[in-house]
Amino acid sequence: MKVGVLALQGDVAEHASALADSGAHVVEVRLPGHLAGLDGIVLPGGESTTISKLLELAGLFEPLAERLAEGMPAFGTCAGMILLATEIVDGHPGQRSFGAIDIGVRRNAFGRQRQSFEASLEVDGVGPGGPFDAVFIRAPAVERVGPAVAVLADVDGRPVLCRQGPVLVAAFHPELSEDTRLHRLFLDTCEGM
Ligand code: GLN
Repeated sequence: MKVGVLALQGDVAEHASALADSGAHVVEVRLPGHLAGLDGIVLPGGESTTISKLLELAGLFEPLAERLAEGMPAFGTCAGMILLATEIVDGHPGQRSFGAIDIGVRRNAFGRQRQSFEASLEVDGVGPGGPFDAVFIRAPAVERVGPAVAVLADVDGRPVLCRQGPVLVAAFHPELSEDTRLHRLFLDTCEGM
């Protein structure tokens, strides 16, 4: 599997090593040409307003939007989830998103950096190994879930891991856990396409 990691800002290296450990050939995506031949792409956590701006500057927004519209598998974590959503609440003026998964998300819903937290998640379909230890950092909240979206995990009834077809999004940072089960789940999606 040839899988891209959007490498404009954020936790690129952590995603790249989780994917490589799971057997993928990883490409850091900084320019439109880097999208060629990818079986899927990861949009990392970081700052969605900054990544949105850098996508425009790099001329990457439109070509990536096209690939996503064609059904390229994508895994967005935290800021990456915001970038893939149809609706952003509390975004910056002009902040764009790809609308690849029918959810409404509120940025920074859990407060400031020091209100970061960890939670032990029961994840649907991730296989054996017990709960997934998830790290939430200035996490977005999913406030609306469209009918085509499956919620794979929640915290106190709030969705934190969702899927719509080939698009998987997490409000947390799976790349910061030792556990690569979610990266492997994503690679299975890429393989099945
Ligand atoms: N608060 C960030 C944003 O709006 C997301 C935080 C993160 O990715 N850890 O993009």
